[in-house]
Amino acid sequence: MKTVYSADQELHDVRLEVTSGDARPPYESPARSRAVFNSIRAAALGDVVEPDKFPLEPILAVHSQAYVEFLQRAWGLWVEECGTELDAIPYCFPHRGLRQVEPRNIEGKLGYYSFDLSAAIGEGTWRGVRASANAALTATNLVITGEQAAFALCRPPGHHAGRDIMGGYCYINNAAVAAQSLRDNGFERVAILDVDYHHGNGTQSIFYDRADVLFVSIHGDPEDEYPHFSGYACETGEGQGAGCNINYPLPLGTTDWECYSGVLEDAIGNISTFAADALVVSLGLDTFAGDPIARFKLQTKDYSQMGAAIAAAELPTVFVLEGGYAIDRLGENVLNVLRGFEL
Ligand SMILES: [Zn+2]
Repeated sequence: MKTVYSADQELHDVRLEVTSGDARPPYESPARSRAVFNSIRAAALGDVVEPDKFPLEPILAVHSQAYVEFLQRAWGLWVEECGTELDAIPYCFPHRGLRQVEPRNIEGKLGYYSFDLSAAIGEGTWRGVRASANAALTATNLVITGEQAAFALCRPPGHHAGRDIMGGYCYINNAAVAAQSLRDNGFERVAILDVDYHHGNGTQSIFYDRADVLFVSIHGDPEDEYPHFSGYACETGEGQGAGCNINYPLPLGTTDWECYSGVLEDAIGNISTFAADALVVSLGLDTFAGDPIARFKLQTKDYSQMGAAIAAAELPTVFVLEGGYAIDRLGENVLNVLRGFEL
């Protein structure tokens, strides 16, 4: 299986996230993608190729023009107002009862286009984000042109980003870009399987009223876990998309492979019932027992079985890297999924 990756993705390198009462260096860092890249090269999984260049159109197919323009301009506007010493992080949000408008001021704009304090913007953010999306598009093109599967080593991740909102380390929704690109290139029904520990709220919101894209997510119960306000089992889609959104919230602390594998089997069964003709996997590895910010109990060996279970769907498949913060085991865990899929 080919991997798509560019070192430009490491240009996104911000200094802070604010979570759980603490301002600290983000768990989501360039060291993540470098670790996965090194593991894949060392294991000789397959060729590692640079992303092709793409116009903005495939990104604008799932994100609003105003939001993408904001992402492009945000750092420059921030520097004019606040200088280069600190990264751009919002502090005020248009919550219920407040006016839904995009203010003139950059700190206002940051609040307007964010849902949390975990998606800072730095000098290299747009270039890194764009390279990550191009990796997803290049992997998708490999599948469009006949490869059975490809791995987009995306970083920063994407599944928390909505049509016009960033958060949770995510700016452009790489998996959504990939799924829409499959739809626009001859695949009639596309399924997205999100196995990241956190609910893929952004991906769900982008396709929530669509009947041609099935979104299936297995994640920590939002009653107890980030992103808290999305990912409940009762969220099943709306309008033409009614029934095309399936959430499996699972208990924190006790979810091991024995529990997880049955749920994954059910999810794959739903993808088969949907009669998808292509699959995008939002591949988060923060389900790992050693992950510093998550509370499932999957072990490194379990990821081989996860790959095999995904292969049972027998679909052309684009793997898109999402989360996973146990950096010393991240590469091995990714490899096990991809090799398990190929066996
Ligand atoms: Zn996650």
